[in-house]
Amino acid sequence: MKPIFAVLSLGAPLLLAGCATSPGQVLTAIACQAPPGFHEAVLVNKQSLTDPTWTPFGRPETGWSVYAVRTAHEIKTRCAPETPGFAHRLARWQSRHALTPTGAMDKASFQVMKTGWQAQRPFVAQRAAGVCPDPPADADLVTLPATETLDGKTVQLRADATRALETMVAAARRQLSASDLAPDQLTVFSGFRSPAYDAARCARDGNCDGVGRATCSAHRTGLAVDLTLGATAGLQVDSSQDINRIWQTRTPVYLWLIDNAGHYGFVNYAFEPWHWEWNETNANGQVATALARP
Ligand SMILES: [Zn+2]
Repeated sequence: MKPIFAVLSLGAPLLLAGCATSPGQVLTAIACQAPPGFHEAVLVNKQSLTDPTWTPFGRPETGWSVYAVRTAHEIKTRCAPETPGFAHRLARWQSRHALTPTGAMDKASFQVMKTGWQAQRPFVAQRAAGVCPDPPADADLVTLPATETLDGKTVQLRADATRALETMVAAARRQLSASDLAPDQLTVFSGFRSPAYDAARCARDGNCDGVGRATCSAHRTGLAVDLTLGATAGLQVDSSQDINRIWQTRTPVYLWLIDNAGHYGFVNYAFEPWHWEWNETNANGQVATALARP
């Protein structure tokens, strides 16, 4: 893929061995002008994008940079967050959500956006109600082919989620160019994890209630899957360091997932770009459209 305008570049691309994708150019500044009146919003967005005081998921983060691509999708633009065009679209989104339409991302606007994203995850609603869902019966789990997992790791998922995942990954491999999708990308590095496994890991890691190590993990449902997106040099595919998550969200494959995964019933946990949960029905109770087709 030819770089268009690397407005989101983190500097020189840092690549995982075997990962050919260069992040940094999935959003653009080309043709991202706006009517007069958004100059101040552009300045605010440039600043808040890397504001170290943001804690949208409970820990300090590099502003809302990790969420810029998903936000662009939410407000229906391909414009980079530092552009007038982005501010213009954000103002329209704010207006639709009864927020002051400044075009500047603020913590109140982000909270509304985040609430909407989390509402797409049935697991979150269950946890909010104090429910930790039971794991599926063994008979409902299938083992993925080794060719579909990272380094041939043994991964199990619920059978229906597996069918949806395989349909989605096949579509991504058809639609993304070879230069935008490295062989390892979209392989699975975690799926079903039994409560006993998670309890043992909780005891071992001593971080049972943190963002990344919940005592009741979505992975116990057999419907959650961790997809390989790649990683910055020296970090793992599940590293939650900001620089890694920003890198991952600037890959063409993440952009493809944000645009298309919902058609297959998958929704992202925004804090972890690699973590996707399958929900057979969308928010309107309709079966995921891509699966409803023969
Ligand atoms: Zn996960």
